[in-house]
Amino acid sequence: MITEVMARYGELSTKGKNRKLFIKQLGKNVEEALSAYSNLIIKAHRDRLHIELNGEPYEEVLERLKTIFGIQTISPVIKVEKTIEQASKAAISLMEETHQPGQTFKITARRADHDWDYETNEVNRIIGQAVTEAFPGIKVKMKNPDNNIRVEIRLDGIYLSSNSIKGAGGLPSGTSGKGMLMMSGGIDSPVAGYYALKRGLELEAVHFHSPPYTSPQALQKAKDLTEKLVRYSRPTTFIEVPFTEIQETIKKYVPQGYVMTITRRMMLRITDQLREKRNGLAIINGESLGQVASQTLESMAVINEVTTTPILRPLITTDKNDIITVAQNIDTFELSVLPYEDCCTIFSPPKPRTKPKLAHVLETEGKLDVEGMVQRAVDGIKVERIQLNQTQEAKQKAIFEDLF
Ligand code: ATP
Ligand code: MG
Repeated sequence: MITEVMARYGELSTKGKNRKLFIKQLGKNVEEALSAYSNLIIKAHRDRLHIELNGEPYEEVLERLKTIFGIQTISPVIKVEKTIEQASKAAISLMEETHQPGQTFKITARRADHDWDYETNEVNRIIGQAVTEAFPGIKVKMKNPDNNIRVEIRLDGIYLSSNSIKGAGGLPSGTSGKGMLMMSGGIDSPVAGYYALKRGLELEAVHFHSPPYTSPQALQKAKDLTEKLVRYSRPTTFIEVPFTEIQETIKKYVPQGYVMTITRRMMLRITDQLREKRNGLAIINGESLGQVASQTLESMAVINEVTTTPILRPLITTDKNDIITVAQNIDTFELSVLPYEDCCTIFSPPKPRTKPKLAHVLETEGKLDVEGMVQRAVDGIKVERIQLNQTQEAKQKAIFEDLF
């Protein structure tokens, strides 16, 4: 019965000159996310997006739309011919979708076509009457009704929509430029990535791994976590950085208390070089103040010293429990807690410095071939494109085939 879905932009409307670009990008993102449904017609207007279903399944389209950033609210819409009878019927259908016993309602009509047979108040009254007859005992409420059925009379037809469903909010992916997400296998970095995507960044995931000390499963886990983020964005690049030589060298030559600091500085140098080569504007990580030794302000200052590139830390003031809640909501938590050790855990000595001295770090690094090591790591990267749910889609197909 639902013939189209309407998505409102929300925050986009405050973006002035960039507005057109934003709308265009959002339209592109929606098109890409819904590309499996070939009958859809997507039309981007000034303040909202219309998605005509043409027989495609409303529920599935809705679920997919809910994860797209830049959409504030989503409303199911029924378009009918311009007769009051058709409009009344459609209002009843919409109410059947959302109405619960005991709830109140109201009809809010608006006329863009001022030549139509009925005035706004008449439309409200006639359709309201029809709904009251269809749902015995239902009450009209003008202020804050449970169901507000909007009826828009336009030149080409009557559009009825029911209560809005909350969208993902944020800005369309890709409208804030590109950033490099330092993706470990932990709980925090995917959540940091989610927040960065939400503010319109496009991400490339950078993952350091140290075979044979870290397992193929640890690498796969980082890729799977990246795939989870693709639901909120478009296909994402995953960059695998060989880190074994650097970690072995650090373990051999660096005093225990400074292993963590210098390891992090190396990671940051490499990520920054990759960023520059690949036209990124920022680096994103999952640091949260005070969580571990590397995340004190003293530590961060010394680690940060290798670059002036903006480092975005979406979780910096977030408590672990709250991070976990988000991780559960975006479905990364269960993957994150799988027990495959990543490179930092394996090489980290028991007592890292929480207040490392920069002078000491510089002196120690002076004895290492920092530039050479960075260069070899950058030269040794493997780049992969991560698409949405390839495996899951394949699995679904297989199950369906079994059924037939
Ligand atoms: P999580 O592992 O997600 O971040 P954490 O509490 O384990 O959380 P740390 O291990 O201290 O955090 O790492 C801090 C940040 O450094 C991570 O959030 C991530 O952005 C980055 N990082 C750590 N290890 C790696 C890695 N192997 N590859 C890429 N980035 C990493
Ligand atoms: Mg970690």
